[in-house]
Amino acid sequence: MEKVVIIGSGCAGWTAALYAARANLQPVVITGAQPGGLLTTTSVVENFPGFPEGVDGFDLMSRMQKQAERFGTRVKFGSIVEAVDFSKRPFAVTVDGERLEAATVIIATGAGHRHLGLESEAKLEMKGVTYCATCDGALPMFRNQPLVVVGGGDSACEEAMYLTRFGSVVHLVHRRDSLRASKIMAERALANPKIKPIWDSAVTEVLDVKQDKVTGVRLKNLKSGAESTLDCAGVFVAIGHVPNTQIFKGQINLDENGYVVPVSGAATNVPGVFVAGDCSDHVYRQAITAAGMGCAAAIEAERFLAAEG
Ligand code: NAP
Repeated sequence: MEKVVIIGSGCAGWTAALYAARANLQPVVITGAQPGGLLTTTSVVENFPGFPEGVDGFDLMSRMQKQAERFGTRVKFGSIVEAVDFSKRPFAVTVDGERLEAATVIIATGAGHRHLGLESEAKLEMKGVTYCATCDGALPMFRNQPLVVVGGGDSACEEAMYLTRFGSVVHLVHRRDSLRASKIMAERALANPKIKPIWDSAVTEVLDVKQDKVTGVRLKNLKSGAESTLDCAGVFVAIGHVPNTQIFKGQINLDENGYVVPVSGAATNVPGVFVAGDCSDHVYRQAITAAGMGCAAAIEAERFLAAEG
């Protein structure tokens, strides 16, 4: 039986592994289909402490992995968890047809960005289409250029406000005529002279007349049906996140949006199952907060095992 099985290999997963390994728990990390998680899809990470020049997202995750492995973490690469059974102990985690038994499990499966679902959006990802202003907003390609943010929630407002530091103007495209964001965020965003709201509108296509680089968007007014185009160098999609928690449905407490609900600290409602990172955090969603939560989850798992003797 494994002492600790960690599901997920983003910042939360690798940090949990590092701490669990250093506590001599020989953790197993199941990486998921995208080893390293969402951060590997980002170009430069400039807000992770300790890297004053910034660090490539993929590089950062490789370093975390190496550090966790150095202390005895075992890794199941590219493996996807097919099912879990948290109804009795030891817990069961089925991965690639193999059944692992675990005394404790740390869930660190992260969240994915909700996508618009356009073909052109997928084609131009990392070529001007992005899902994280904090990660990519400062890139030279966006400096002093018109930018588009899609969405009407707190994330969209936050992204738009952040982007006003870099873009010449930030068009906030929302499908309704009022923002879903909290009052204070909405007021702040709409009071910013660099943010221009475009109401009742949907992005129907991301344009790349210069080929392989975003040059604009096609818009549709959802009330009048009128179509138009708008020049921009970047499209920041901020229409919410989808936590990667489908396999835990019915096994553990999830909120109405699918986020794992901790009962205290990193502990879930199932004693011995802990959670860390974006699959339970819809507020901060930063690499450094996920890493901190991974550390906390490993410490709690260690204490849980120690208390059992
Ligand atoms: P959200 O509140 O769910 O808002 C998503 C927005 O995207 C909504 O305006 C929604 O439109 C729009 N949308 C959804 N699907 C769409 C689609 N297919 N096409 C176009 N637009 C679409 O998500 P969020 O802004 O990421 O916030 C999630 C949670 O985190 C919230 O609880 C929020 O308060 C919190 N948060 C807090 C802060 C903060 O306080 N600093 C910052 C960020 C997030 P409709 O309005 O029409 O549904």
